[in-house]
Amino acid sequence: MLPVQDADRVEQLWHELWDFSYRYGDQGILMMALSGLDLALWDLLGKRLGVPVAQLLGGPVHSKLPAYASLPPLRSVERVLAETDRALTHGFHAVKLHEVDVEMVRMVRDGLGPDIEIMVDVNGHFDPVDAIAAGRELESCDITWFEEPVRPMRDHHAIGRVNDAVDIDIAAGENEYTLQDFNRLLGTGAIRYLQPEITKIGGLTPAKRISALAELYNVALCPHNFRLGPSLNASIHWGLSCPVGRWIEIPWLPQDRHFPTGVPVPELKDGKVALPEGAGFGETVKDGQTD
Ligand SMILES: [Mg+2]
Repeated sequence: MLPVQDADRVEQLWHELWDFSYRYGDQGILMMALSGLDLALWDLLGKRLGVPVAQLLGGPVHSKLPAYASLPPLRSVERVLAETDRALTHGFHAVKLHEVDVEMVRMVRDGLGPDIEIMVDVNGHFDPVDAIAAGRELESCDITWFEEPVRPMRDHHAIGRVNDAVDIDIAAGENEYTLQDFNRLLGTGAIRYLQPEITKIGGLTPAKRISALAELYNVALCPHNFRLGPSLNASIHWGLSCPVGRWIEIPWLPQDRHFPTGVPVPELKDGKVALPEGAGFGETVKDGQTD
């Protein structure tokens, strides 16, 4: 049982909780729980001081960042094009597909034309040989990145093999947890787009150090996130405050599906998202709904 602590000492609390929990594991549900506590403390600190969390990080480096609509797996060109059309109407200029069929990606590219950026995330669908084959076929589809090409997704050696063999930028990182994990992943030299998830890595306190690591390795920080509300807001504060922040992921569910919170998709201008309004990580409660 930990004694009552001063909630303003976020860095110290993170380390105390980390030391307390480390022997039980530095990944998975423990780190996700620590992430929730850490993000709540940052939000509380900002709200107490009446400033956005980004201000506590030295202020935003970017006034806006491009955001992409992250579609769930739809397994149908028609559905992907229909949902992309809705996302473009909302203001997005880029979409991420969770599709593993290269021909489908090609048909989506043909349907969208050359002006919309497309990312392809296969969530570790392939073994290294098949990932290389798929990557080579994707080279002609004009995609922004090929995400988590191999299973297991943390097989850094295999990610390096894919990157060496294909002429497409690789994105990964959403299944890494510790600073040491990210150092090992980046040490492969295979990653151009780094995708830590702020609700897995332990929150904003370690995120600050991962920002520095991304800067050191000269890669683009693109926070991974597939929820609306607090985790997206925290990701926006992080990305906008990071010198190498590059893309913000915003989930885009089909018209008939909603997250339980009911929090709306942020407004975009010219395909870009700005800092949420309000102190802390900003407000995520709308019309009496709770998050
Ligand atoms: Mg992904």
